[in-house]
Amino acid sequence: MEVSFSKEVEMLRMGAGETFHGEGILAITKALLQSGVAYVGGYQGAPVSHLLDVMVQAKDYMQELGVHVEACANEASAAAMLGASIHYPLRGAVTWKSIVGTNVAADALSNLSSPGVKGGVLIVVGEDYGEGASVIQERTHAYALKSGMVLLDPRPDLSRMVDMVEHGFRLSEASNMPTVMELRIRACHVRGSFVAKDNQAPAQSALHLLAEPAKFDYSRLAHPPVTFGQEKLKHQERIPAARAYIEAHGLNEHFDGEHHDLGLIVQGGLYNTLIRALQQFDLADAFGNSRIPLLVLNVTCPLLPDQIANFCQGKRGVLLMEEGQPEYIEQEVATLLRRRDLQTPLHGKDVLPQGGEYTAEVMAQGLLQFVNRYLTVPSNEASASGATDATATATSGVQAWLQGNQTRRTGVAQALQAQGQTLPPRPPGFCIGCPERPVFSAIKLAQQDIGAVHVSADIGCHALGTFEPFSTGHTILGYGMSLASRAGVSPSMQRRVLSIMGDGGFWHNGLLTGVQSALFNGGDAVLLIFKNGYTSATGTQDIISTPDDAAKLAAADKWQSLAHTNQTIERTLQGLGVQWLRTVHTYEVAKVRETLVEAFTSDFNGLKVIVAEGECQLERQRRIKPWIASLLKQGERVQRVKYGVDEDVCNGDHACIRLSGCPTLTLKDNPDPLKVDPVATVIDGCVGCGLCGENAHAATLCPSFYRAEVVQNPGVWERLLASLRAGLVRVLQPA
Ligand code: SF4
Ligand code: SF4
Repeated sequence: MEVSFSKEVEMLRMGAGETFHGEGILAITKALLQSGVAYVGGYQGAPVSHLLDVMVQAKDYMQELGVHVEACANEASAAAMLGASIHYPLRGAVTWKSIVGTNVAADALSNLSSPGVKGGVLIVVGEDYGEGASVIQERTHAYALKSGMVLLDPRPDLSRMVDMVEHGFRLSEASNMPTVMELRIRACHVRGSFVAKDNQAPAQSALHLLAEPAKFDYSRLAHPPVTFGQEKLKHQERIPAARAYIEAHGLNEHFDGEHHDLGLIVQGGLYNTLIRALQQFDLADAFGNSRIPLLVLNVTCPLLPDQIANFCQGKRGVLLMEEGQPEYIEQEVATLLRRRDLQTPLHGKDVLPQGGEYTAEVMAQGLLQFVNRYLTVPSNEASASGATDATATATSGVQAWLQGNQTRRTGVAQALQAQGQTLPPRPPGFCIGCPERPVFSAIKLAQQDIGAVHVSADIGCHALGTFEPFSTGHTILGYGMSLASRAGVSPSMQRRVLSIMGDGGFWHNGLLTGVQSALFNGGDAVLLIFKNGYTSATGTQDIISTPDDAAKLAAADKWQSLAHTNQTIERTLQGLGVQWLRTVHTYEVAKVRETLVEAFTSDFNGLKVIVAEGECQLERQRRIKPWIASLLKQGERVQRVKYGVDEDVCNGDHACIRLSGCPTLTLKDNPDPLKVDPVATVIDGCVGCGLCGENAHAATLCPSFYRAEVVQNPGVWERLLASLRAGLVRVLQPA
């Protein structure tokens, strides 16, 4: 990984009394060290990648403290790592993106939760839900409920988040339950400060080794018959112990307000957004003081029945803000109120949407109904209920704000419609020069030869091939699952099915669930593996097939792709028994097309694997840019390649754009006043990957593309030659 986190690593060293300024997720990382964590693992994924990335780069400091850090193969291996805390008083933390990572980890989590833990366990999950999320929209809450884990959802304030990490470990030890901390995207990226404490070196660690293994204890195994007893322990001992800790340490927060007869209950992570929504009603100030009493649930599982009942008792109405579906908290609160025969009206999903992110605007719509019902009353009743004219005025202001937003959206849509347009969608796309784009061009061309094929797609950058202009991929069943997910389709298809997988997905899951299964079952499948050298989609983290530092240093020509320097994938496939294996360079479109056609038409009945090599352009640019800058600074000659379109030759049919999708291959007005179609053009960002030339050749496009060599710091002869050429062009060109 070429990105450096040296500044962040320094921040981890802060001691007592120093003020930490930064992002939420880095504050959590520092809090782990303040809590005396002994081991940290995980699998990267937004929005929590930063935690593991920084820890991995802080290796030297971690060794000083005796903290073991492991970049795990997948979330299941990270969750299994927590087994260390079942017998030993070791505090452990792991991290991943949820819900997908939690799904992968589910088996190990069940087997961890059943025997329970001795050392505190904290699982930091990025709750990738709502705007900006990149995975299926589901809630981690379900796992906490079913497996008997504590779920923390801290108020997005750095001091509170750090406190909750420290409490999370102690709570886990007090209850023997694993603790999960869910952090929404906004909580991970919220900025703020807190006063740091000294980091705690763990008592038992890589520096202070355990002399003996724990005594054999069958009750610590997740195995019958003790699993029956463990199931009872969850509700008889562990949950009551967790509740006692939460109450004793005031983990949930009660903020009072002048409207005592009303109440708002909110998941901690939604607190900031709720305050923003309340401000629209003039029901909260800029410092977060609410005029309606708030119960902020920094722990959303287990709930404290007494605390909730006391909060609701005597109120005319309570509104619960719970994001996502199903409404687990609301159902539990409703049940506990009913059991205690408390008649306080409870509102939640009746005034708020069932699913989707609760933004300030969404919350304001729910609050409007609540406020209209309980706070805006005729003036003669106002004094009795505590309602004020000011509230009524604010409510109409909110109505106007919401209406204004809606009117603006409708206005824009209508204006576009009047011009015969719709707002163009802006799907994400491959980086400029991405080595995976040419392969999708080749897949398009190969299908011209053999006909359309069913494509099992996967998770990773290559999933961007499901967007225009490629629109390639019928299903995505999970990370590394493409080959496994074609097993039911292949037998019913006339043509062979294509499965696409990245090297990240191959190591995460694809090798076993896909390759091993296809070989064992004699599947007649075609698997295309993108070997770009990194798990690029999660932030270009290293994997076992990443080119090592020695290869990078030894690269005589840094312009060259390094993806071919590590052969672990090929050797593994051969070792497993793959007999049909081809390696192609992704940028050679005609060759990739030919290899695909061969795989689809070959007489070989069995697994056919094509390894498509091409180093991730993002990582490559990070590697070569400083090198080029240093060459230029030293006055050395640097030659780069750029592509361009001759606008006099371009016929304006844009076939090249439909076959490429590169953002730097775009359109401009036709300079010929007699033609209306815009011409293709290559703009400045072109990194000269060569795909334009390859596509023009492989698809026999028009001859308008040219390749230019841009020379910086040219030598004397090159300058002389350039001025001669320029002179000749001037002579030949008409004035
Ligand atoms: S990060 Fe790398 S692999 Fe992913 S789209 Fe960008 S260049 Fe392609
Ligand atoms: S050569 Fe073509 S595809 Fe490659 S970066 Fe330049 S414009 Fe994009």
